Amino acid sequence: MGGRSRRDRRGRNDLCWCGSGKKFKKCHLFRENERPMQLGEAMHQHRRMLPKRCSHPEANAESCGKIINAHTVSSAQYLQRIATDQHVYSFIPSASELEQWRFSGQVPRPKRHGINQASTFTGFCALHDRSTFRPIDDSPFVGSAEQVFLLSYRSVCREAYAKAHHLDFLTEVVRNADRGRDPAWQGVVQKRVAWMEEGAERGGREVNALKAAYDERLLCKDFGDLAYYLLEFQGTPVLACSGSGQVLHDAAGNVLQDLSESSDMEALSLNLLPTETGGVAALATVGAKAVWSRVVDSFEALSDANFANALIHLAFFNFENVFANPKWWDALPAPTRSFLHWLVARAHPGMHSFPPFPEGTPRLVDWKLTSQQQIG
Ligand SMILES: [Zn+2]
Ligand SMILES: [Zn+2]
Repeated sequence: MGGRSRRDRRGRNDLCWCGSGKKFKKCHLFRENERPMQLGEAMHQHRRMLPKRCSHPEANAESCGKIINAHTVSSAQYLQRIATDQHVYSFIPSASELEQWRFSGQVPRPKRHGINQASTFTGFCALHDRSTFRPIDDSPFVGSAEQVFLLSYRSVCREAYAKAHHLDFLTEVVRNADRGRDPAWQGVVQKRVAWMEEGAERGGREVNALKAAYDERLLCKDFGDLAYYLLEFQGTPVLACSGSGQVLHDAAGNVLQDLSESSDMEALSLNLLPTETGGVAALATVGAKAVWSRVVDSFEALSDANFANALIHLAFFNFENVFANPKWWDALPAPTRSFLHWLVARAHPGMHSFPPFPEGTPRLVDWKLTSQQQIG
């Protein structure tokens, strides 16, 4: 911890005790006298620090165009089908909402977005976004390997982008949350942030390795080792999802892999697209497919009536980048809304203690499963 005794031994030009790599005089010397950070300031920084760079593997100054708000779920094709007054809800909670939830029981609210902005990230230039995703943006979804690959690829790119942003935010903003606090508290804060950074770095390495695997297949258009589970539903479309990440439970709630065993874990992607008559979902992986097979088997063991519910659980629980029809959401009973919020929040540190699949979870949608296929 960064107590006073340490500071006394430390020269102004020595490296700071907190591990920032900066000189002590530029970092923690006199930090207790600095102006404390306000929440509004941190949130402003969070937005300001959103990376603006093209995720395409061949991105460079010559080949790239202007960085745009690239959709992970196309608004024209899909989001408009679940919109109320051209708006949809998303559910990723802010750190302060999570604190309020844990300490005063106040459940987060969904965020309302216009469909032109919802699901976007500044992770592609206009040219590469257009050229890369034309087969899914310009054509109806028919479930081809190329289309499923591209949907998954976009989820992976967004995940890599979000992880990089999170790490930058920890290092450049949360590290300063101890301004104006006494040295003992500074030590506590820095230790906690160091631990969070370690997790964020590990997550970043994993998702970058995954993206590299996808990049390679994108460039040679080789989708031969893509495996996907394609589901079609009939019913009122109310949800969309585009996510990539490690799946921890199968459809029956059995634990699949432990986060602490972080090496060579498979990541799956889930895309849930609202269609005119209902929805299609693709659960996909490239390369290794042991986890994918177990999840698919767990779905195959469900009765048809439980498919849609299990799929929605999977989306909220593992893939956070979920969008809902506001009218549908607002009509759900309050405990159901809290439960779905919790499924999204559970990924965050400090929110693990909730049981994963409480019994008696209400039915969410009236979708009827009309087809299921395993490809690959
Ligand atoms: Zn420092
Ligand atoms: Zn580009």
